[in-house]
Amino acid sequence: MAKEKKINPQTAQNEHGASMEKLVSLCKRRGFVYQSSEIYGGLNGAWDYGPLGIALKKNIQEIWWREMTQKHDNIVGLDAAVMMHPRVWEASGHVENFSDPLVDCKSCKTRFRADNLDPEALTAKKCPQCGGELTEPRQFNLMFKTHQGPVDEGEDGLVYLRPETAQGIFVNFKNVVDTSRVSIPFGIAQTGKAFRNEITTKNFIFRTCEFEQMEMQFFVKPGTDPEWLAYWKEERMRYYTDSLGILASRLRFHQHAKDELAHYAADAYDIEYQYPFGWQELEGVHDRTDFDLRRHGEYCGKEINYLDPETNERYIPYIIETSAGLTRSVLIALMDAYEEQNIGRDKDGKDDIRTVLHFHPNVAPLTVAVFPLVKKDGLDELAKEIHNELKMEFNSFYDQSGAIGRRYRRMDEIGTPYCVTVDSNTKENGHVTLRFRDSMQQISVHKQDLITRIRQENRIYKRN
Ligand code: ATP
Repeated sequence: MAKEKKINPQTAQNEHGASMEKLVSLCKRRGFVYQSSEIYGGLNGAWDYGPLGIALKKNIQEIWWREMTQKHDNIVGLDAAVMMHPRVWEASGHVENFSDPLVDCKSCKTRFRADNLDPEALTAKKCPQCGGELTEPRQFNLMFKTHQGPVDEGEDGLVYLRPETAQGIFVNFKNVVDTSRVSIPFGIAQTGKAFRNEITTKNFIFRTCEFEQMEMQFFVKPGTDPEWLAYWKEERMRYYTDSLGILASRLRFHQHAKDELAHYAADAYDIEYQYPFGWQELEGVHDRTDFDLRRHGEYCGKEINYLDPETNERYIPYIIETSAGLTRSVLIALMDAYEEQNIGRDKDGKDDIRTVLHFHPNVAPLTVAVFPLVKKDGLDELAKEIHNELKMEFNSFYDQSGAIGRRYRRMDEIGTPYCVTVDSNTKENGHVTLRFRDSMQQISVHKQDLITRIRQENRIYKRN
């Protein structure tokens, strides 16, 4: 049998020419994502979001938040602390189970996740990097520990940085039921930072030690969980295709096999994305049974249950979890939007390659850019006036430097859906040129109609 070609995750490309290597370079060059503490040589597994990166991240977070708490009458929000009582993590099973198998190379000292290694290398105990001998796998707990209060190293004041946001929701279940007008079935949504001491942080912002999650835990009556799992599976897939504009062909479900299921789960699906280097998880949609509330009840010494106001029945609710990575969604939004297009010949007769990010307008860091064609005859003043109006509603950007073609290309490369150019016509009849990023089509629009037109275009946007 022919040996399978090994994929290099950095340089592997999708059909639109996107690779991790090109994306990292674009992100640095255009201010989406920088390496953390770069001036000191960087820190593994940590990244900083630049001006465009934070705008993109916030947009995705807001879309998710609206989708959950505004579009669903029965979902409320929460913002729990990162640091929690250490018993939380005993009850949740994290102290005991939240570990990955670790192997070390005795020669080059590199550490690997045993389950990510080629089974042949693992059996032969041979380091894939230097050929040295590998140790036996041992379990490595991924939670970061720290100490609270004026205590020295040791176990006193031990606290963990949360490795997921979900537990903050479970421990507040009673609080929310007692203080809000929710009744089962209902959900609690939360976004925030999570920390995992990952053995191997790789693939840019795909797997990092500090990342952000967007989790919604949906509490249901036992027995109704399979139908709610089916509902949330579809709902979450629809969110990626319709609300974030991700190509449906690059998304799929992966159902966990029996031996893959987490200790708390009855059934579980991952929504996976097709990265240039293969299919990997983006979000988990899980039936967590009553494990979480039951265990917290046991560990805190008081059963956590729910009294059905209609039937007077008391039960421990089941939980359907939708657990998405925000920072991983940023990566997917960028990866999915990226395209290198050959759009003819440049003035030297060479292939003219345009790099464009086809962000959904709701996701794009900038919605519109306004340019005076030239910096004279008062066109700059007029363009600034239009920009000042647009920015009341959209993320608008004003740019007067460089040839107009170059200004368009700069906006294509960061995924700005619309450009507005002000020229001498604008002074005469109030008309501007509205240019569309994806089609590069240009139309004439009266400046007074711009806001309505952009609103309409945003609503009907569909990527080809
Ligand atoms: P894996 O098995 O790949 O380590 P997981 O199954 O443990 O991941 P979950 O605990 O289900 O992941 O986390 C939910 C979501 O949080 C993931 O789908 C992913 O989007 C995000 N996520 C988890 N770990 C990381 C990380 N280290 N860096 C970035 N995002 C992460």
